[in-house]
Amino acid sequence: MTQRHIIRRVRGVDTSDGAGVKLKRVIGQPALDTLDPFLLLDEFRSDEAGDYIEGFPEHPHRGFETVTYMLAGRMRHKDNHGNTGDLGPGSVQWMTAGRGILHSEMPRQEEGLMWGFQLWVNLPAADKMTAPRYQDIDPSAIPVVHPATGVTARVIAGELAGVEGAVRGVATAPVYLDLSLEPHAAFDVPLPEGHAGFAYVFDGASAQVAGQELARGDLGAFSRIGDTVSLRAGDAATRLLIVAARPLDEPVARYGPFVMNTPEQIHEAIADFRAGKF
Ligand code: FE
Repeated sequence: MTQRHIIRRVRGVDTSDGAGVKLKRVIGQPALDTLDPFLLLDEFRSDEAGDYIEGFPEHPHRGFETVTYMLAGRMRHKDNHGNTGDLGPGSVQWMTAGRGILHSEMPRQEEGLMWGFQLWVNLPAADKMTAPRYQDIDPSAIPVVHPATGVTARVIAGELAGVEGAVRGVATAPVYLDLSLEPHAAFDVPLPEGHAGFAYVFDGASAQVAGQELARGDLGAFSRIGDTVSLRAGDAATRLLIVAARPLDEPVARYGPFVMNTPEQIHEAIADFRAGKF
């Protein structure tokens, strides 16, 4: 067993996206532009309707995957291929945009707490123009395991304690865990060797991750060498995401919602979008 360590620690910055949805951008900001293959991580959390009510009206994506994990509140997803889906508390949508979709993500509530995450995961060059695909995962379809005393894990993707996560068949072989630790609980999370990844503490108190104290709202990026990350809660309960995937080490050409390998492919994406080919 080789322990990972934290090579970088950042906090999200306040920003807004879509039609003015307020959020914290944790990956995809000046202090952490990218963490290959992760291109973006947003946390949205507000009980002020004005912060989320305008939602994310129709917009395109090409060349990567968007992953929405809802903790509270309801969003409706709709795309130009006729797919619709309702995302409620505890649900996950893993969308492979591939060669292109146009979609909207709009709140289905006019008040109350809206809380969750959106993660962007890059696609390998060979898969960027694949057909779009959705994995809409109901909360009840996400396995819950107790890998150690005082530790509860929702296995969204990857494997933990011999249980395979709900999301399957993704190119970068992701691990996506939502871990709750009771006070003083400790656990070594296994991670595939070579995967890039991070911990993000999002509720409760601070946590010791790979020997470093991460406060609520801190992201700690892992070294790529090693096959385990140590976790330890302090005097209070804590809850965090552990996310990892195979890095691509390929060139990235990025223009808003288009993420390709070369500037030519970006021009092509813009032309295809304007020509209505999504
Ligand atoms: Fe989107």
